[in-house]
Amino acid sequence: MQGKSDIGVIGIAVMGENLILNMESKGFHVTAYNRTVDKVERFVNGRAKGKNIYGATSIEDLIQSLKSPRKVMLMVKAGKPVDDFIELLIPHLDKGDIIIDGGNSHFPDTERRTKYVESKGLYYIGTGVSGGEEGALLGPSIMPGGSPAAWPAVKEIFQAIAAKVADGSPCCDWVGNGGAGHFVKMVHNGIEYGDMQLINETYQIMKDVLGMTADEMHEVFKEWNEGELGSYLIEITRDILAFKDTDGQPLVDKILDTAGQKGTGKWTGTVALDLGVPLTLIAESVFARCLSALKEERVAASKVLSGPTPSFNGDKKAFINDLRDALYAAKVISYAQGYQMMAAAAKEFGWELNFGSIALMWREGCIIRSVFLGKIKEAFDKNPSLQNLILDDFFKDKIQSAQDGWRRVVATAATNGIPIPCISAGLNYFDGYRCQRLPANLLQAQRDYFGAHTYELLGKPRGQFFHTNWTGRG
Ligand code: NAP
Repeated sequence: MQGKSDIGVIGIAVMGENLILNMESKGFHVTAYNRTVDKVERFVNGRAKGKNIYGATSIEDLIQSLKSPRKVMLMVKAGKPVDDFIELLIPHLDKGDIIIDGGNSHFPDTERRTKYVESKGLYYIGTGVSGGEEGALLGPSIMPGGSPAAWPAVKEIFQAIAAKVADGSPCCDWVGNGGAGHFVKMVHNGIEYGDMQLINETYQIMKDVLGMTADEMHEVFKEWNEGELGSYLIEITRDILAFKDTDGQPLVDKILDTAGQKGTGKWTGTVALDLGVPLTLIAESVFARCLSALKEERVAASKVLSGPTPSFNGDKKAFINDLRDALYAAKVISYAQGYQMMAAAAKEFGWELNFGSIALMWREGCIIRSVFLGKIKEAFDKNPSLQNLILDDFFKDKIQSAQDGWRRVVATAATNGIPIPCISAGLNYFDGYRCQRLPANLLQAQRDYFGAHTYELLGKPRGQFFHTNWTGRG
């Protein structure tokens, strides 16, 4: 090895290996280390052979190999392994050295770890890294938060390896203190759940109501991908629908309809409930996966619970345009809710989140990358304190022109007995958000009736509470 390394990475699995290779390809010298040291040896003699990558055989060896201030990035399984490595590293590090966690950690853990590591005179960064295996190698979206003083020391490396948008701007910028980076990554994953479920719902309507074949649907997604819905998830859906098994049949038709999940969507929903944010669409997308997992129950129920037999007699082409509009409008709602949640968290945790810059970080490199995110960036650049994305002129007009089709899709799905929890949750949110008077007056009366919870009155100052003896009993 020639000279010391710019950064050390612990964790030689798919993400760690690819990030190391990405860093090296951008001119950085990297030290690789792993709990199971054999994997280091295999890596340096395999994919890393002939590159500026040093394989460390121990924590001491790793620390010795790094330039000061030392930067050690953990790409290990989230949870206890991160805490364990922090404990192993601390005794070997000097004031100002930086521990980075690039795994899918939950943001409260990153808040805690930042305080703990800072209490030892060191700096901590908890960063979201999105884009999977390929993103890690070719340019991920990187969302760092933690100790702000550590950012200048890692900025060059992170921005060099991150994905770039067309003008060359990196999809990586400082997000905020403590757990802010991992919070934004969590919301990203929640939005990913929502985007996927929305696509799935349009697919089910095309298949079960319109009776379209996988090849016909492939053509529709191909066309959609060339327009304003253009995105990685639409693109892979297009390709999945065209993919044939060895017998020439679409492989997608043979896949068991039970969805898995690793928990980041669930975190997003749980945190939304904690923050009191109406993140309905993403929450529905998590529940949709839970419902899909009840395969045996659903099969049994399908034999005893009947509903309408799907049929369609209208203009198919026009209805496919309605589906496109419904998908677009519901997607706007999902992002509007996600941004509302980030605004609530910024207030709660004292973060100064730059919403335009977050849209830019998601514009390329990650699973939710899309043309659409460029428009979100423009909206927040125009008005950084935009209260709700659907109040931005561009998105307001878009929803306005999409809403007739969106309503037809929800009505058609309901009359045909097709579940579309996310497309309809989006419409319900839209109608609720634009509703001047919701039925919560009755709700408050009910609460006061049974629990003397009091209510406020129209025309009276806010904060003045009233109680009524509704039954006349003492
Ligand atoms: P992973 O399978 O999540 O983790 C494997 C790595 O963790 C190995 O280096 C393993 O060491 C180490 N490890 C596991 N248990 C450990 C323990 N108890 N103590 C110490 N080390 C332990 O790897 P990955 O898929 O590359 O993901 C790395 C991180 O990135 C995770 O937090 C993951 O959630 C996140 N992430 C993954 C993706 C993806 O597409 N895979 C995308 C974004 C983010 P040994 O070799 O010794 O077992």
